[in-house]
Amino acid sequence: MRGSALGLFGCIEAGGTKFVYGVGTGPDDLIVDSCATTSPEATTDRVVGFFRNLRVPVKAIGIGSFGPVDLDPASPTYGYITSTPKLEWRRFDLAGTVARALGAPVAIDTDVNAAALGEARWGAARGLSDFLYVTVGTGIGGGAVTHGQVVHGLVHPEMGHIRIPHDRSGDPYPGGCPYHGDCLEGLACGPAIEARWGTPPRDLPAGHAAWKLEARYLALGLNTWVCTLSPKRILLGGGVMRQRQLFPMIRAELGRLLSGYVQARALLEEMDSYVVPPELGDRAGVLGALALAMK
Ligand code: ZN
Repeated sequence: MRGSALGLFGCIEAGGTKFVYGVGTGPDDLIVDSCATTSPEATTDRVVGFFRNLRVPVKAIGIGSFGPVDLDPASPTYGYITSTPKLEWRRFDLAGTVARALGAPVAIDTDVNAAALGEARWGAARGLSDFLYVTVGTGIGGGAVTHGQVVHGLVHPEMGHIRIPHDRSGDPYPGGCPYHGDCLEGLACGPAIEARWGTPPRDLPAGHAAWKLEARYLALGLNTWVCTLSPKRILLGGGVMRQRQLFPMIRAELGRLLSGYVQARALLEEMDSYVVPPELGDRAGVLGALALAMK
């Protein structure tokens, strides 16, 4: 492997249903394995075993994790999974367990922030200092990069939980967020689409009315983020965004909402390259974790 001369970097995509982990130096030099997410101990034993079986020790390991995760370096529970609905994982020291077992430095971030870093290094956000990576799937989450740094702030942004206008006469579905009801995630994540129409998103035809409403809601979210964070590009990934017909609908709706106010060529003339799919596909998570390790 090319990386062996330089020293290997390890990466772990810690997901709620599976862990994907690997070593390498980039998309063309990456060996991965995976296992189902079971108990914290059994799962981390599998992962640690993979790294121990390598002939070369890893220089550093990046973890992109499901969450919420404590990302405050000053906190005594830094790197812990916090209030997840997966009870066994609550208050589990994920970063510390891996670091102690392998004697290597560990960098941890949310799965969506890691994916943003991966897209910045090898994907659709190459060369951009300011952009958003938003995933629309079982939930809606966003990673914001400004001045080349992932925004953490107080905890980390929760872009899916912004409030958007909800016309209850046109869309009587009350929203499915357990905290807010009809926040953006409550109205526009995959389970919300299924609950509203009685059909999973993947089974709704491309011409279904669901997509016009979905494009409207997502464009309202994008409008808020464009006006608050001024990103140079927005990457939209996740299971719902496999419905490629959404992209032109969202671009058109975003243009209408902004109404020409923000004077930037990207928004006025180049919307097709402003709102785009990510490029790393299914490997965004694990490559994002690798980018985190290399950073
Ligand atoms: Zn919410």
